Amino acid sequence: MPAGLQMFDLTGRRALVTGGSQGIGLALAAGLKSAGAELVLNGRDEAKLTRAAEAVGGAHLLAFDVTDHAAAQSAVDRFEAETGPIDILVNNAGMQHRASLEEFPAEAFQRLLQTNIASVFNVGQACARHMIGRGRGKIINIASVQSTLARPSIAPYTATKGAVANLTKGMATDWARHGLNCNAIAPGYFDTPLNAALVADPTFSAWLEKRTPAGRWGRVEELVGACIFLASDAASFVNGHVLYVDGGITASL
Ligand code: NDP
Repeated sequence: MPAGLQMFDLTGRRALVTGGSQGIGLALAAGLKSAGAELVLNGRDEAKLTRAAEAVGGAHLLAFDVTDHAAAQSAVDRFEAETGPIDILVNNAGMQHRASLEEFPAEAFQRLLQTNIASVFNVGQACARHMIGRGRGKIINIASVQSTLARPSIAPYTATKGAVANLTKGMATDWARHGLNCNAIAPGYFDTPLNAALVADPTFSAWLEKRTPAGRWGRVEELVGACIFLASDAASFVNGHVLYVDGGITASL
């Protein structure tokens, strides 16, 4: 085990970030790269991924739909065979859909389940099969304050993020014995395209600033430290933890 700051060094590690073309995924990718990792960016839109790779100063591109189990499996297998090991997986791809629960479209409910939780199983399993063979690997799932708290109009999202937190514990329970560290980061509110409607709503911002002990929205760079920690040797005995980075929202009523 390296000492001091060296234990956070990711030089020589390769990190796959799903939904790495924008928002939180892109910020986490840039942060992992700054700690020395080689990047593999996933998303569905090749052009967006190419722009993201340029923005972070170079990355492998691995476009596939995370809701498609077979596509995830074959993309990861092909990458491992042709390029090399994926040492770190950040399961970040996700979506939001807002509607009152009594009007919530069944199709949107299914899409949320597939995008926010089935994806964590699909890509997690594909990567873990290789990591288990090597006896090491890091999986970081992006949960949410909605893993534990509900808000009006997003009940299905809340259900998926609660499931992400519990699947993280399940992954740790099954895979820690194989040398994998599986944990989650649960962000509070961050200004990304997913939250564009909330950012544009001054009433919501005023409510959020009052509700959050830190008194403001989060900045995506503020998630990077948690991600580097969980991806690094510094977290070698951290398993099944959900790390809230939320300005204190879940600490306070
Ligand atoms: P964005 O909407 O900004 O980005 C979502 C990313 O996921 C995009 O890169 C998108 O690329 C990709 N994506 C979506 N669906 C798929 C799919 N089926 N297959 C592959 N890639 C997909 O979201 P955020 O950055 O805000 O959120 C990232 C994660 O963080 C999500 O899991 C979200 O739930 C979570 N989160 C966000 C918070 C926030 O405040 N923003 C708070 C708490 C959690 P493309 O569409 O090109 O495929």
